[in-house]
Amino acid sequence: MTAADATPTPAPSRRRRKAPHVHDVLVVGGGPAGSSCAYWLADAGWDVAVVEKKQFPREKTCGDGLTPRAVRQLADMGLEDALEAGHRYWGLRSCGWGQVLEMPWPQHPVFPSYGYTITRHDLDGLVAERAAKAGASVHQHTEALSPILAEGAGGSPAGGKGGDREGDRIGGEDGDRIGGGEAGPGPGDGARHLPSCLGAVVRDTESGETRELRARYVVVADGSNSRFGRALGSARQKGYPLGMALRGYYRSPRHDDVYIESHLDIRDADGNAVPGYGWIFPLGDGRVNVGVGLLSTDQRWKGVNTSRLMDAFVAGAPASWGLSPETSCGPPTGGKLPMSMAVQPHTGDNVLLAGDAGGSINPFNGEGIAYAYETGRLAAAFLGAALAGEGPAALRRYDRHLTEAYGDYYRVGRAFVRLISNPAAMHWCVAVGMRSEAFMKELLRIMANLMRPGAPGVAELGYDLLLRIADTMPPELASSLLA
Ligand SMILES: Cc1cc2nc3c(=O)[nH]c(=O)nc-3n(C[C@H](O)[C@H](O)[C@H](O)COP(=O)(O)OP(=O)(O)OC[C@H]3O[C@@H](n4cnc5c(N)ncnc54)[C@H](O)[C@@H]3O)c2cc1C
Repeated sequence: MTAADATPTPAPSRRRRKAPHVHDVLVVGGGPAGSSCAYWLADAGWDVAVVEKKQFPREKTCGDGLTPRAVRQLADMGLEDALEAGHRYWGLRSCGWGQVLEMPWPQHPVFPSYGYTITRHDLDGLVAERAAKAGASVHQHTEALSPILAEGAGGSPAGGKGGDREGDRIGGEDGDRIGGGEAGPGPGDGARHLPSCLGAVVRDTESGETRELRARYVVVADGSNSRFGRALGSARQKGYPLGMALRGYYRSPRHDDVYIESHLDIRDADGNAVPGYGWIFPLGDGRVNVGVGLLSTDQRWKGVNTSRLMDAFVAGAPASWGLSPETSCGPPTGGKLPMSMAVQPHTGDNVLLAGDAGGSINPFNGEGIAYAYETGRLAAAFLGAALAGEGPAALRRYDRHLTEAYGDYYRVGRAFVRLISNPAAMHWCVAVGMRSEAFMKELLRIMANLMRPGAPGVAELGYDLLLRIADTMPPELASSLLA
């Protein structure tokens, strides 16, 4: 060795490999929750990476219906013009017990009075692309295989209590499973929290290569099946509402109808009314999205076969829609709908759940896209505070904020689900409600979460009354209705 070639021996870690890049945030899942979270973080200048196991555009089982709440979120991300590729509609037509009611979306100071239908095939890529344009690194066809846990961190590895257990399989394109990863009843389980996570081992689904992606914070937005979340120890609270739904596409002469349609008296094979609804959502591209959704919370509805429910609904749908085996564009696919913030815990020191991974679907109507955008955006806001210096305390504020923003509404929603899971009560509610257009219009405002804060309208007063009933109900009755 001479003075000319003398170099210090590299430190062992450097000699072996360059230190891996540590992102500010890793987002697992590039659906509505993950892409909105990534967009808002990147827009604020943070270094965010998203891993999405599929390649956009990709099929996603959904009704493809965007309510005014969802349109507002897309507009805030600068995407309202892009929605023109979809189909604008003006309200909901409700059918049942021989009645048909057309209800335009109500006027609201914050939300538009229209919605869109657009296939998730077309929509989800738009939002992911928007996040990438804002500066997020979006890794498509990249699957998060397992979390990298901090040394000494607890958690339940996949296959453990919170892991991937066998359940009834239904024909979703993700192989969604029903029944895996459930926890016993519990009020939010505030005591538990998710273990610290340093990132994920990811696999390129095209080349098969695996590598590590590391980050200071991790957002779990991998949808209702949430394998990654369950590997970290999240679990659905038993007794919280869970929906199951199937959808298929049909060619239809009424593809450009300006109302989406719901049918409130769907029946099982024995002709019994079931708690759920059938829908026909016009897409404006020659097709309609047709589906059935069922609340399977109550034991007595667990055995209902959704495929037969779907067949019966299609066979009995108004002839003017032209639904038949000849106009079907392919077999239906299905998925599950975890509702009412059913998945807990929502946070850890550096991990957050958003969207279906946290069970954020509205129990009143099964709407999940708006709540995925909203919870993704809220997660981004609290992560921004954490990254700017507040640290893990900001994540606990996210938890508290979710309770403030959705807790009361979802508590009333759970009571509603309990009520309509009782066949006699459901029959009475729908039969009576469908006789009054004025009543149904106010109910729509409540069910679509379009109430005006501080406004003394009928819907707002009715909702306050429901909340008070829920709050003052004797504990034993409350526990059976609000569990
Ligand atoms: C039949 C049916 C009809 C519905 N209809 C409507 C409707 O009309 N309107 C409405 O508002 N809601 C509807 N919903 C609910 C709505 O689809 C969901 O609430 C919404 O998709 C939730 O968004 P998300 O981002 O949380 O999850 P998802 O949309 O499921 O996105 C999760 C993403 O994560 C990816 N992913 C999963 N695991 C991994 C992994 N390990 N690594 C990397 N990527 C991963 C998935 O590929 C997916 O792209 C319906 C649901 C069903 C089942």
